[in-house]
Amino acid sequence: MKSILKIEDLHVSVGEKEILKGINLEVGEGEIHAIMGPNGTGKSTLAYAVMGRPGYKITRGRILFKGEDISNLPPFKRARLGIFLAFQYPEEIDGVSLENFLRTSYNSMNGSDVSIIQFRKILLEKMKVLEMDMPFLTRYVNVDFSGGEKKKSEVLQMAILKPSLSILDEPDSGLDIDALKTVADGIKEMKGPQMSVIIITHYQRILHYIEPDFVHVIIDGKILLSGKKELAKDLEEKGYEWVREFNGREGNGRFI
Ligand code: ADP
Ligand code: MG
Repeated sequence: MKSILKIEDLHVSVGEKEILKGINLEVGEGEIHAIMGPNGTGKSTLAYAVMGRPGYKITRGRILFKGEDISNLPPFKRARLGIFLAFQYPEEIDGVSLENFLRTSYNSMNGSDVSIIQFRKILLEKMKVLEMDMPFLTRYVNVDFSGGEKKKSEVLQMAILKPSLSILDEPDSGLDIDALKTVADGIKEMKGPQMSVIIITHYQRILHYIEPDFVHVIIDGKILLSGKKELAKDLEEKGYEWVREFNGREGNGRFI
């Protein structure tokens, strides 16, 4: 297995508060990992720390991407290396059309200057998979988008940028079942053998559509339990409290 992401004993603080308390995680090329856990346990913090969001301070440990220590790189450099984060709460960018936004990101990531016409061809092909129609392109990024539309535009961005590691923070939140299926199909379709994916989710329902190779449970800033896809089903039945009990106080990173 070729390692894409390796996180070693990662401790992260926001302000004075330690949120991540020693995360170890390795993601191989083409693998899908699900990160699950109760609300407020540090799932988004982990995503932000990998992306390098300001204010998320690494106090111990490090993050390796394709063997390179990226712990001190600014976010745009991490993006250029091939890391992409789809936000739990995508931000609105008033006055900038989705098409312009995507074309600008595409050009800046690839050092290219693709024409509007060329780019539209690329876009329309991907939009078909996500069941998005033309009027989307002229709307301002995420302004007055429904929950499902926001998630679709994040997946579209991922499809355009072709990162080697995509982190999707709760791509299922706020979606009805049809939108969920479309978003899941879109992620699967865009993935390809070279792209590794980390799906962060509180609920296992999206994992019915996208089968993860591995599932990890974060509780109180640590991965308490990891397993294969069957672990998601156990969690559905038994809940997160079971993980604490099963693992005991001392447990850390046990694999079942
Ligand atoms: P999750 O994504 O698992 O729901 P988060 O990573 O968002 O959890 O948050 C973990 C903990 O860190 C929570 O207690 C939250 O209140 C705190 N936290 C996260 N981001 C910030 C921030 N920017 N400022 C203060 N506290 C934060
Ligand atoms: Mg979160």
